Amino acid sequence: MAACPDFKIIQPARFRKPTAKSIASLAAAGGRKRIFLGLLAASCCVVCLLLGLFLVLPWLGVNPVWLQHVSIFLGLGGIGALAWISLTLVFHIYTGRIMPGIGGLRHLCIRLFLPLMEIVGKLSGIDKMAVRRSFIKVNNEFVCANRHLSTPHKLLLLLPHCMQANSCTRRLGLSLANCANCGNCQLGAIRALGRKYGIHIAIATGGTIARKIVAGQRPDGIIAIACERDLTSGIQDSYPIPVFGILNERPQGPCHDTRVPLETLECVLSFFFENGNQA
Ligand code: SF4
Repeated sequence: MAACPDFKIIQPARFRKPTAKSIASLAAAGGRKRIFLGLLAASCCVVCLLLGLFLVLPWLGVNPVWLQHVSIFLGLGGIGALAWISLTLVFHIYTGRIMPGIGGLRHLCIRLFLPLMEIVGKLSGIDKMAVRRSFIKVNNEFVCANRHLSTPHKLLLLLPHCMQANSCTRRLGLSLANCANCGNCQLGAIRALGRKYGIHIAIATGGTIARKIVAGQRPDGIIAIACERDLTSGIQDSYPIPVFGILNERPQGPCHDTRVPLETLECVLSFFFENGNQA
């Protein structure tokens, strides 16, 4: 079989000097941060309204008096904490500056706010995929700002099985070792990129296998290529391991001969490993 004919290591042309914001945006395929921020604000308002119930309990005949004080304390404390969390997150998202406790806020955002934001988004008529792309973009900026993807050999590049050509008869298993680099799909090119940067590459056939790979390899960081749904759940499931998400392309429809913009992938790798890991 001939070697992959059109593969060459592509120099990042669109962003000669990739920055945290440019690669986060490129990888999230134009996800809009303002959707995330708008839904975050709306979700905080919903929670504030619920916490406001504690403030009105004393006027609804709750006894004894100490319980009224506890109720007011919980209401005011909860609203104050929520205001601090949301302002800190918004400040961090806009400026990229590291704030004390930002790691915990990221966790809270992933675990608590995202499901709430999806519900609020659905009620507001915002496309679920747009919400997820927005989340992936913001998550990518968090990962870049915290400079988690430290060294190539501790990084895992996780690919979806659907990137293998549907016509390919090779049994790849969890790695690219059996790929013949025939050029019918991008996996041969990605294997060459992996060798160039010295990173581990694994193929996952689903969320359960992906979790097993991550548990077995225990990487410091992950670059994952997948659709909006799988990236969102992967980012949530892998916490606290940082996951930089790159959205795939689906010219043949979902889960079938999917692709990744190789330029974007190399942009991301060069950002982390050729620029001294500077955000
Ligand atoms: S995985 Fe892709 S590049 Fe590798 S042998 Fe199969 S079709 Fe060719």
